[in-house]
Amino acid sequence: MILSIESSCDDSSIAITKIETNELVYHKKISQEIQHSVYGGVVPELAARLHVEALPKILQECEEYFPHLKAIAVTNAPGLSVTLMEGVTMAKALAISLNLPLIAVNHLKGHIYSLFIEKEEVLPMTVLLVSGGHTQIIEANSLSDMKVVATTIDDSFGESFDKVAKMMGLGYPGGPVVQEYGLKGDENRFDLPIPLRQSPKIEFSYSGLKNAVRMQIQKLEESEEGLTEQDKYDICASFQKTAVAHIMQKLKKQFKINVSKNLAIVGGASANIHLRGQIEELCKKHKTSLYLSELKYCSDNAAMIGRVAVEQYKLNDFVSVDEIDIQTRIKEF
Ligand code: ATP
Ligand code: FE
Repeated sequence: MILSIESSCDDSSIAITKIETNELVYHKKISQEIQHSVYGGVVPELAARLHVEALPKILQECEEYFPHLKAIAVTNAPGLSVTLMEGVTMAKALAISLNLPLIAVNHLKGHIYSLFIEKEEVLPMTVLLVSGGHTQIIEANSLSDMKVVATTIDDSFGESFDKVAKMMGLGYPGGPVVQEYGLKGDENRFDLPIPLRQSPKIEFSYSGLKNAVRMQIQKLEESEEGLTEQDKYDICASFQKTAVAHIMQKLKKQFKINVSKNLAIVGGASANIHLRGQIEELCKKHKTSLYLSELKYCSDNAAMIGRVAVEQYKLNDFVSVDEIDIQTRIKEF
């Protein structure tokens, strides 16, 4: 079995995965959404402090598995430096005290392998990664051969939902609440610009759309009635429609170059129902098989890190306690 730790952002999570069968024998996650919600985003120092509380609490529950462990795995990149450090420090201590090898896992590969939790790997596939920090199209051929073919030039898809929610005081994370508000709104009330619509390049941008929403909110706030609940519903609906339209335009362009046999959507924002619905249609049209992670595995969790670690274990891909480092960003896989 492998014990895996995830602490790259605001979720403290530990999993135990069986190497031979991919079976998830233990999995727990303690989220910090409530604590960060008042700030409208993740406060790194607070997140680190909460990991210090939560991780040992979860680890205590795993003690019975210690004699069966063959390796310790941990997310080491990308993420917030102070929170990555908490998981990596715990992993190092465990590797030393239990005399086990250490596996450093790329968090983004983790999101991709969330598709394969308790399942066999299905690669190659084209992956749309939409999370809090990333918006990428990745050609994933194998664990060690993944190419980013499109990325965002500024904000990410999930981040733009978080920022729009913050502008209207709707709390953090923004994705679920914006989606919910949008259900009650008129998506055609505000004419927001679809980012990079005229550009032939396959890349993403969300800062212009975010600013357009900000200006619209300011205008409404200065109006006689102020910003009403209905205004908020309509803004959420119009914003979401435009944010998804941008992804769909670029994904269709990518399909013109190369129609994938297998397409997956992963990352926390892959829970978005509009995005899922439109991608389902695109896949139907092109006879592409669509892969989605279970909703509970879309956002950060240690089960996906454990699933990558199983493959790395089989490849003898270990790192020494002295050499493991953290990286807040990574350019390539
Ligand atoms: P990264 O993995 O890039 O480092 P992260 O781990 O912080 O970032 P995730 O946990 O994968 O990101 O996803 C969280 C993001 O997903 C948040 O920005 C959140 O608002 C967004 N999100 C969650 N549900 C939805 C939804 N239904 N619609 C849109 N966005 C959503
Ligand atoms: Fe993530």
